[in-house]
Amino acid sequence: MGERSKWRPARLREAHAHIHPHGRSKSMVDLSDCRSAAEILNRLAEAYAGLPPAPSFGSEEERRRWFKSEPWVLAHGARIESFEDPEWPPLEELDAIVPDRGLAAWSFDHHELVTNSLSLSHAHLASDTLRDPCIVRDADGKPTGLLQEHAAHQLWSSRPESSHERATADTRLAIEDLARHGFVEVHDLKSDVADLHALATCGEEGWLRETGVSVKAFYAHADWGSLDELEDNAWQIKLSKDLGAPGVRVVGGKIFVDGTLNGRTAWMLHPYADGRPEHPEGMRLLSQEEIANAIEACVASGLQLAAHAIGDAAVRAVLDAAERARAPRGSVRIEHAELIDEADVPRFAELGVIASVQPCHLLYDIEALRRACPDRLDRVLPIRELIDSGLKPGRDILFGSDTPIVRPDPEDSILAATNRGRSDMALADGIAPSQAISEAEAWACFDADA
Ligand SMILES: [Zn+2]
Repeated sequence: MGERSKWRPARLREAHAHIHPHGRSKSMVDLSDCRSAAEILNRLAEAYAGLPPAPSFGSEEERRRWFKSEPWVLAHGARIESFEDPEWPPLEELDAIVPDRGLAAWSFDHHELVTNSLSLSHAHLASDTLRDPCIVRDADGKPTGLLQEHAAHQLWSSRPESSHERATADTRLAIEDLARHGFVEVHDLKSDVADLHALATCGEEGWLRETGVSVKAFYAHADWGSLDELEDNAWQIKLSKDLGAPGVRVVGGKIFVDGTLNGRTAWMLHPYADGRPEHPEGMRLLSQEEIANAIEACVASGLQLAAHAIGDAAVRAVLDAAERARAPRGSVRIEHAELIDEADVPRFAELGVIASVQPCHLLYDIEALRRACPDRLDRVLPIRELIDSGLKPGRDILFGSDTPIVRPDPEDSILAATNRGRSDMALADGIAPSQAISEAEAWACFDADA
């Protein structure tokens, strides 16, 4: 290898992270090395056994109050798809293992989770009359404990809130970890009010400046209704300004246009080879009008809009909306863009839409991609084509990890972008090998100064 390929930018940017969840995940049960439903159950049982037992209750009301304030069993990282028998544990067994506390065990992609009956009813998701496709049911119409997308988030947000002190400590933990990986700029891709509050505290205390990390936050769309109130609230969040705290800025808003590949909910132009009968081409989560409104709202506030779009249909929908809204160059970012139709590749450069991609996911997703869209593998992360169409690495095409979905080690994305597969695979055996880029180009996509 020549000297050129050894080049690394002096300052690295992590363009897609979830800072608070990354820190919090370090204190959750890690299911990433489980290989079966039985192993998941064992791991959850161990965590449950580590918590104090429930007292005896005088009334149902007393029991409910206890449940609401007590810690839940929280887990993350499950990769069901990698199991020989790719099934989550059934609800009866989850109930048997965690009978009296809340439970949420996330899949690695944070788009689905399993829970127990108590948590389902606590989150108002247990009713037989709810005909929500995100509440997965068995043949008899009974909930299986598996929740997807908004139903998973409804369950998650019904757990006892963690304190501001705890959130701040988790945020620090995450930023320390990201700084250790060499990042000086981190984009937080779905900050809610509590996340911003924790980031602001890290900034106010001068701690971010000491660490040398600056954070650019993209505000969660679900909370946009409260944007106006933020101007006056106690910790003086000012949009597009510095939150009154050095080292943190709100630079954008975030929306979700589709789901994920893992849940077969990423919205595709063609049906999945192994899709779900309820949504063979995945799920569209926002209408064309809603995407356009989000772009306009952000542009009017001087913000960028970051749109989560994994499938090629979702990517096209965002490009169409950016075109129709005449969004200024650089004001729209597409997050993930895991599949891009050939016809849409040149539109990024034409419209000035930024591609924010996470090649490191290829290292984990190769088998899933081969099962899900065997006829479209050539359209997976066409990074070579995007650069050749005029996108400048580090400015128009950005690399990130989506941590805590996968670890935030930049070397993983360098490997995936140059080898299109894991290190023990030949380039020719990778996914769309013709889309490989050079090591210098890959590092440039992490360049904070490009
Ligand atoms: Zn993300």
